[in-house]
Amino acid sequence: MSYVNNLMDKLIQRNPNEPEFLQAAREVLESLEPVMDRHPEYIDAGLFERIVEPERQIIFRVPWVDDKGDVQVNRGFRIEFSSAIGPYKGGLRLHPSVNLSIIKFLGFEQIFKNSLTGLPIGGGKGGSDFDPKGKSDAEVMRFCQSFMTELYRHIGADTDVPAGDIGVGGREIGYMFGQYKRIVNRYEGVLTGKGLTWGGSLARTEATGYGLVYFVDEMLKTKGESFAGKRVVISGSGNVAIYAAQKVKELGGEVVAMSDSSGYFVDEKGVNLDTIKLLKEVQRKRCKDYLAVHDHAAYFEGCDDIWTVPCDIALPCATQNEINEQSARTLVANGCIAVAEGANMPSTPEAVKVFLDNKILFGPGKAANAGGVAVSALEMSQNSMRYSWTFEEVDAKLKDIMINIHKKAYEAANDYGFSGNLVVGANIAGFLKVADAMYSHGIV
Ligand code: NDP
Repeated sequence: MSYVNNLMDKLIQRNPNEPEFLQAAREVLESLEPVMDRHPEYIDAGLFERIVEPERQIIFRVPWVDDKGDVQVNRGFRIEFSSAIGPYKGGLRLHPSVNLSIIKFLGFEQIFKNSLTGLPIGGGKGGSDFDPKGKSDAEVMRFCQSFMTELYRHIGADTDVPAGDIGVGGREIGYMFGQYKRIVNRYEGVLTGKGLTWGGSLARTEATGYGLVYFVDEMLKTKGESFAGKRVVISGSGNVAIYAAQKVKELGGEVVAMSDSSGYFVDEKGVNLDTIKLLKEVQRKRCKDYLAVHDHAAYFEGCDDIWTVPCDIALPCATQNEINEQSARTLVANGCIAVAEGANMPSTPEAVKVFLDNKILFGPGKAANAGGVAVSALEMSQNSMRYSWTFEEVDAKLKDIMINIHKKAYEAANDYGFSGNLVVGANIAGFLKVADAMYSHGIV
């Protein structure tokens, strides 16, 4: 039995109910086989066994009182996966689907993503099965305060620096930061995604979406292509999706469809971003409400069929496993030339295979969506300096970082004999830096 299969067997035995984590681990480990051949010393040092086991897993009770006076109890998580190259860093997700498997898969991916940015940040992730949807601001605040009342003892500006993710935006980061500061009596950069008046970085809100599009632009250049005149479909209508759409438009592309977890809309005249921003960022409304303003658009219940909308470029920016094999085949059949993951692991392994087999340009999430965490790390730098860069300065650094990530992944793929395969390239390039640090630190 191969080394990787043996390792996966042990991982399955130890984590039997964690399908998302096992999916992510298998994808990374299999693509690292050429590294194992070239670096037997990493096998001897048990490096692969160690990297798939989180350094620390924290699971805790989050009790809070709703507006009716009833007690509610949620479960909180923080997975401190790897601190080999810097303090743990990764978002907090608030969504009813959150469980240990999902947070571990996200934390594991985060190790390699953070390494790819070239910045000194380790990998972590956290969250809760709390659903902010339909809750009042006061309920969200009480939940966030209770969540932080336990989390504060595990985090710190040089220990673990959480950020936002699904369901965690400026409002939630604000409530959590306020509670942290109150408990520890220190003003420190312990969270990123902060408001601009209290330590946040310009361009953090835009970073993941903009970074994704900068990355795709690099992918397109390798084929002599650009965004100009391209039809683009973007799933989701949250933070990542909205700012990806904005940058696509700036670069001359046309976004024709977007979605939320209820359904998707198609606007053949091009999605009106002012409307979608107002609906999602201000009014907290649904995609179907887009039609009340633009009645020429069409709305469809359910999100899966968004990938049947013909496009040149597809940017999945909602959630994990949202593109299956069938959707991937449809995209290819409709002439799609590039797919890049704004979300984390939105394509199933079968879908990724379809893209690679058909020589579609494919940007895996850990490379393509690393812009968010990169600017989070720049927020940490600004906090340490007690200084702020301008929007243009941060945006220029973000663009450089995304160009570099593409270059590193592209070159690693070439170097290991997988030319054009950015999945393998990103995993290898991200892994090598972490592996070198782990190897230097001894068996810890
Ligand atoms: P938001 O909460 O701002 O938006 C998420 C969007 O995806 C919403 O439109 C939401 O619809 C939709 N969505 C969420 N869950 C599902 C589901 N199960 N099925 C269908 N649609 C769903 O989150 P973000 O934009 O921040 O995050 C989107 C993705 O990008 C996630 O995978 C996240 O991990 C990843 N990511 C985010 C980064 C960031 O900086 N924010 C950085 C790197 C990756 P609805 O409103 O109906 O729930």
